[in-house]
Formats: sequence, structure tokens, C-alpha cells
Amino acid sequence: MGLFSRRKTIFVDSDILVIGGGMAGCGATYESRYWGRDLKIVCVEKANIERSGAVAQGLYAINCYMGMQWDENQPEDHVRYARNDLMGLVREDLGYDIARHVDATVHKFEEWGLPMMKDPKTGRYLREGKWQIMIHGESYKPIVAEAARKAATEIYNRIMITHLLMDKSKANRVAGAVGFNVRTGDYYVFRAKAVIVCAGGASHIFKPRAVGEGMGRTWYAPWSSASAYALPILAGAKMTQMENRIVLTRFKDGYGPVGAYFLHLKTYTENAYGNEYETTWYEHTKEIVGDYVDRHPVPTCLRNHAFLEEVKAGRGPIRMVTKEAFQDPHLETVGWENFLGMTIAQAVVWASQNIDPKHINPELTTSEPYVMGSHATCSGAWASGPEDYAPSEYQWGYNRMMTVDGLFGAGDTIGGTAHKFSSGSFTEGRIAAKAAVNYVNDLGKELPQVSEDEYEKLKTVVFQPMENYRIGRNEIVGGTVSPSYLLPLHGLQRLEKIMDEYVGGISSHYTTNSVLLDRGLELLGMLKEDLEHSGAEDLHQLQRAWELQHRTLASECVTQHTMFREETRWPGYYYRADHPKLDDTDWHCFTLSQYDRNTGEWGMEKAPVYHIVD
Ligand SMILES: Cc1cc2nc3c(=O)[nH]c(=O)nc-3n(C[C@H](O)[C@H](O)[C@H](O)COP(=O)(O)OP(=O)(O)OC[C@H]3O[C@@H](n4cnc5c(N)ncnc54)[C@H](O)[C@@H]3O)c2cc1C
Repeated sequence: MGLFSRRKTIFVDSDILVIGGGMAGCGATYESRYWGRDLKIVCVEKANIERSGAVAQGLYAINCYMGMQWDENQPEDHVRYARNDLMGLVREDLGYDIARHVDATVHKFEEWGLPMMKDPKTGRYLREGKWQIMIHGESYKPIVAEAARKAATEIYNRIMITHLLMDKSKANRVAGAVGFNVRTGDYYVFRAKAVIVCAGGASHIFKPRAVGEGMGRTWYAPWSSASAYALPILAGAKMTQMENRIVLTRFKDGYGPVGAYFLHLKTYTENAYGNEYETTWYEHTKEIVGDYVDRHPVPTCLRNHAFLEEVKAGRGPIRMVTKEAFQDPHLETVGWENFLGMTIAQAVVWASQNIDPKHINPELTTSEPYVMGSHATCSGAWASGPEDYAPSEYQWGYNRMMTVDGLFGAGDTIGGTAHKFSSGSFTEGRIAAKAAVNYVNDLGKELPQVSEDEYEKLKTVVFQPMENYRIGRNEIVGGTVSPSYLLPLHGLQRLEKIMDEYVGGISSHYTTNSVLLDRGLELLGMLKEDLEHSGAEDLHQLQRAWELQHRTLASECVTQHTMFREETRWPGYYYRADHPKLDDTDWHCFTLSQYDRNTGEWGMEKAPVYHIVD
């Protein structure tokens, strides 16, 4: 009983609350100050913005830069590229909006001290590919975080947000958020006029390839725990394309990136017998997706598809041919540095497995699926588009506002806009912030009010796993295991197994069908019931418990969407065995879901795809 009464509650008021201080959150914080000189801007982050989010360890390339100053690409070109890669389905209005502003963002990064590689002959940024430019990016995140720190009124590090707060009088309006300090255990109530969710993507919802001693090694950041989706879902925001999970072809065991290898080092892949294999699967792929296979560049999922089919045919492993490129000392250096700046683990894996890419062609593999909206897929919240460009059906309020009033998002949070990457996520944060400032300025006297009853009830809910542990530990049967509670790690492994076996993970070659999905939903329902009894022995485990809650709700959403879309649109990402082909007649559309937190029911609908760019 004493547990809840002892806990301090800290109230923080703001005009704009940014949840998550990664790339999008730093962009949102920075831009909120630019347009809202006198506003109180608060950014809250579960880690420390200095090194948080998917860019924590650094990057070697900025993957979204038009180069308009040199007429290298125009925003329309990027829309065509993303549309092609996503098999026709992107929010062109949102994508165009990012593309037209992203160069200005990258120029700011350089101004703030990010070392850019330059082409010695032309003086332009050194291109890795048509959209990518190369950077010395070990300190990318601290540089971006500094801009956010200077812009914010206050940054709150080490606070995990668990729930959004809704307005007392308007059910569909956000009024703030609650969470807890993962170090002190204080309970935080953030009251805000507008909220921008920038809480990253979702790893560890499907069982990873790296288990046991390798657990925690995933391609997407292991701390990307689906809050970006669970927070809006619980608030009743519509979500889109949540079935559109991503599978990456990467170096085996370390998930080292392959982009620089393909694009800069000009390495290529071959099967176990030294043969090219992609053309082998051309006719087969055409049967599934028709003319999409003839698009250039070949969509990412279809390249995965050829890889998977070749392995299933027994001609794996697939290897990257590095032996030729690595004879050039410059390329050899670039090859290693590519990991040292962002995925050191891959270099360590190679060293530990006696792989010197100068003499041995390293193996590739396909990852477990992840859910996110900023890389080569576009899961996330359904957002209103830019006033000057979005079709009327995509506009119901302010740019990047979700279907909940005052609730904005950016980066991995927002759906329909793949290929924004680090620079595009920061840019989208800026776009959302500008709109959020306008929203706040337009509110007048109609300010949202939080309900004391709501945040007090949530206080009990948030710390319940510690209470469960406190009581349940009396029945511990071994180590920390008790029949009275479910520990976060055990719950996570159960979730990953359900998603893997029923919703199209690695063990089923990414394949599912309606019967499997039905059963998956049943099992997820049972897991949700059991999560009421999750036990946390300390604050660290409390954070894990809430990350698991968020992952589970997002997983349910993914499963509902996968069930709803009755086609195989992205072979190589996942397969509906009962609907094995792409079906443009019925499914050239977005899928939308809406969760009712009172009944636990999901509503599903289709939304049209408008092709704005020729
Ligand atoms: C392995 C890898 C390689 C990549 N390579 C490139 C590349 O080469 N070039 C490129 O341009 N892009 C690359 N990207 C993509 C880029 O990192 C993402 O597009 C970008 O970081 C997305 O921004 P975001 O703000 O949405 O998410 P993030 O940057 O991940 O930020 C999310 C933030 O939210 C915080 N958070 C999460 N939940 C909560 C919560 N409940 N409460 C409070 N805070 C919370 C997290 O701690 C984090 O700081 C790569 C990503 C990965 C994982």
C-alpha cells in the first residue's frame, strides 16, 4: 500500500511536448522554438538525447538528400523512387513535403559541425548512391542533440512515457502524457497544449535471429520499443500500413549495412556456387507481382524475394563478393570504416569468426521483420497532409496532425512515407513542429485540461508491475520466477514467438495465412490478459514491462492489418499464402485501423492512394 503514496508526482506544463528525442524529436524541438519564440517547449526522452535513438552510435551516410542546389534530384524524383520501392503505395503529399525541405536540414547539420565528405573534384557532397551522401558521422547524434538542447525550454532525460492524457471535455483531444523516471521512480505528469510523438520504430516484436548469447543484437535499435505506435493507438489515432513490416538483407550475425558495399565499393552477391541468382527468379516474381518487377531500381522487397527463393532452393548461403573490391586499399579502408562509424559489432563478428573480407566473401542473411515508418517501409500513424499539396481527403487539420486533435508525429511514427531516413525524420519533426505551433496559437482560450482522476488512476497502473512483484516474490520458485507474475523477458519471448510463428517471421519464411493470423490474435489476446500480471523487480524492469506493453499492442495492430490486406503486395517482406499474388484491383489502397480502448475492438477500413506526381 505504501508504494503508491510514497511516490512523488512531478507536474510539468508546456505548450508543446515532444515525446522522444531522437532524430525527429530533435527536429521538432529545434523548429518549435523557431516558430514559437515565447512558447514553452519540452522534450522528454527515455534515454539521454545525447546518444539516443536509432542514430545513437552514428551513421556513415545521410540517406535522403536531393542535391537541388546542383540540380541532382528534384522532390518529385524522390516521390517516384519511394512509390516504386513500396510497390505503388505511398502518401505522395507527405513524401513530397519532406523531399522539398530535406536539403535545408542537411545544410544545417553541416553548419552545426557535422563533417561531410566532399568530392575533391566538384566540391559537392560525396554521393554514395542517387540519394545518399557520405558523412563522418560518429558524432551525428550529439551534434543534432545540441541544437535541440539549445532550443528547448527543458529537456527531461530518463523518463519513459507510458500513456497519453486526453482532454477532460473533448474526448478526441490530447492534453499531455504521463511516465516515470527510470532512475528515481518519480511519476511525471506532462500537461501540454500539443504533443508531438517521435518515439521511433519497433524492434523485438518478431523473434530475432540472434537469440541466447546473441540476444539484443538486432538490426533496428533494440530500444525502439513501439511506443511511437502504442501511444497513439491507445489514444484512438488511426494507423496505416502497419502490415508493411521491413526485412533487411544484411551481413550475417552482425547486421552490418550493405548500402556502401553495393553502391560505393561496387560489390555484388552470388549464391553458394558463385552464380548470380536474381535473374533466375524473374519469371517467378513476375507471376506474383506483374510489371512491378520491371521497375528500376528493383523494389527492395523483390530483391529480398529472390534471395529467399534461392536459399529455399538449397543454393545458399548467399555471399557478398568483397574479395575483388578489397584489393584496393582505399576501398578496403572504406569497407571497414563503414562499420566502425555505425555498426562496430559487424567488424567484431568478422574478427571473431576469422572472416577477412579481402580473402573470404562474407555471408548475408535476411533479418527478422521490424515495424517502422522512416526506412524502406511505411508503417505508422495516419496524418493530415500539407495544405498546399495534399488532396482534400488527406487533410483534416494541421500538417502531420493525427486523427486525434493536437496530436502530431514525425519520423518512424508517421505512416505512408518511406525513405525519409535520418535527415527526412529530422525534417518531418520540423514540419510537424511548425504546424503544432500554429495549432497552439490558434487554440485561444480553449485550452485542454487534464483530469486528475485520469492521471491518478494511471499512476496506479504504471507502477502496478512493481506491486505485482512485491507481492508475488513471496512465492518465488527459482531465481526471480514466481507463479504470480510474468517477467518482462518471458513476456517478450512469448510475444516474439507468437509473431514469428503466426504473423510471418523468420521460422515460417515470412509466410502466414488467415488461419494462422486468427490463432495469432487469440494468443496475443491471452498475452495481453497476462500482462496485467507482469512483475518488475526494479525500475529497469518496470521500463522493460512498459516497453513490452507497447510492443504487444503494436503487434496486435500489425496482425490486424496483415489479416485485413488480402494479397501479397511485398513478397520478400511477407507472404499471405492464402492470397499469394499482388492484387491491384482490390488492394491499391492504404489500410487503416482504429483501436477502441474501451472495448478492445479494432475497426479496419481502406483509404485511397492518390498519385499526385506523374
Ligand atoms: C541500423 C540502422 C542503420 C541506419 N542507417 C541509416 C543511414 O545510413 N542513413 C540514414 O540517413 N538513416 C539511417 N537509419 C535510419 C534512421 O536512423 C532513422 O530513420 C531515424 O533515426 C528515425 O528517427 P526517429 O526520431 O523516428 O526515431 P529515433 O531516432 O530512433 O528516435 C526515437 C527516440 O524516442 C525515444 N523513445 C522511445 N520510446 C520512448 C518513450 N516511451 N518515452 C520517451 N522516449 C522514448 C528513443 O529513446 C529515441 O531517442 C538507420 C537506422 C538503423 C537502425
